[in-house]
Amino acid sequence: MKIDDLISISQKFGSPIYVYDAALIKSQYKKLSDAFSAVENLHIKYAVKALSNINIIKILNSLGSGLDTVSLQEVLIGLEAGVKPNEIIYTPNGVSLDEIEQVVELGVQINIDNLDVLEQFGAQYPKVPVCIRINPHIMAGGNSKISVGHIDSKFGISIHQLPHLLRIVKNTKMNINGVHMHTGSDILDIDVFLQAAEILFDTAKSFSNLEFLDFGSGFKVPYGPNDNETNIKELGEKLSKRFNNFCLEYGKKLNLTFEPGKFLVSQAGYFLTTVNSVKQTTSTVFAQVNSGFNHFIRPMLYGSKHRIENLSNPSGRERFYTVVGYICETDTFASNAKISEISEGDILCFHNAGAYCFNMASNYNSRLRPAEVLWHNNTAKLIRKEETFKDLIKNQIIADLD
Ligand SMILES: *Cc1c(COP(=O)(O)O)cnc(C)c1O
Repeated sequence: MKIDDLISISQKFGSPIYVYDAALIKSQYKKLSDAFSAVENLHIKYAVKALSNINIIKILNSLGSGLDTVSLQEVLIGLEAGVKPNEIIYTPNGVSLDEIEQVVELGVQINIDNLDVLEQFGAQYPKVPVCIRINPHIMAGGNSKISVGHIDSKFGISIHQLPHLLRIVKNTKMNINGVHMHTGSDILDIDVFLQAAEILFDTAKSFSNLEFLDFGSGFKVPYGPNDNETNIKELGEKLSKRFNNFCLEYGKKLNLTFEPGKFLVSQAGYFLTTVNSVKQTTSTVFAQVNSGFNHFIRPMLYGSKHRIENLSNPSGRERFYTVVGYICETDTFASNAKISEISEGDILCFHNAGAYCFNMASNYNSRLRPAEVLWHNNTAKLIRKEETFKDLIKNQIIADLD
């Protein structure tokens, strides 16, 4: 996508607005599948929570992607998009058995990460195949900063509880068809990830009926030209080789599953806003845009640093700006960011706005959630309308207060 395409989208549909480049999503998908081309049965399951627009799901599904889901509602969105139930895995954490039962009814693969739930589920549904999510507790070099699946995480079944887990499986005669891990940390040191993988392989040996091993996600994407990222090619070469060897040992060709969210959609997303005012205080130059953490909360919630570009003056002199929103609370998108000179009315583009951006938007300050546009075959397609005032109040009930 070119700057002119983004500008014309903001002119046609207004701002704030989210824009997604379909070609970039496709090329990321290809990059990942190419890196693992040595694995015969690679299954990529897009993590819907990153960006759940049905059109995005359809594009990925047409490339062969299944879905990773964390709620009943994400499963329903996937089915609405035409994804088959057997292409979907459901990895909840802390949900009720009742919700798990509803998802089982839909024919979706269940992934359980809690011994208590496993026992209850196994007792009632011994015939339904279940995947188990383990926590490998890997600590590289004793440094907790690069640990995966730290010891007090609420996610996964600790590998130290494997004997207990095996007892439950034996007693209930349930069928474990997959072993899973998702550590949530960025994979930057590939050897650390491979160590965690060894623990998954080790655990897998305790189950004789497996169909797949699921390595979750954790692919780091760059947030700018000089930022680091997971070396997918190296990971693909090393893990594919090790996986194929494991399958020989195990005596069966298993599926290798990944569940990327960020990797597939982060860089494909742009968030466009308009500058309402440029405000010089004694120490700072603020650029105030027509949005806030109601639409784009990652910088405030996670401290993530999204590159901001002035599309209206791309070759202007660079100056330092603190970019803020219109929410009546501190909502700083970037402090002292170098951006080409900003004037009122300019369009600012936030990069890496595909993953966990629109999906975390809210109606705080009674603002409307913005529209979404898909850039597909050189045309801009509206894939979600901006909300209206009616949407904002539609569920409120005027009670009789007399
Ligand atoms: C969130 C999540 C993912 C996706 O993580 P990314 O960092 O976006 O790739 C994958 N699997 C599970 C179980 C998740 O909860």
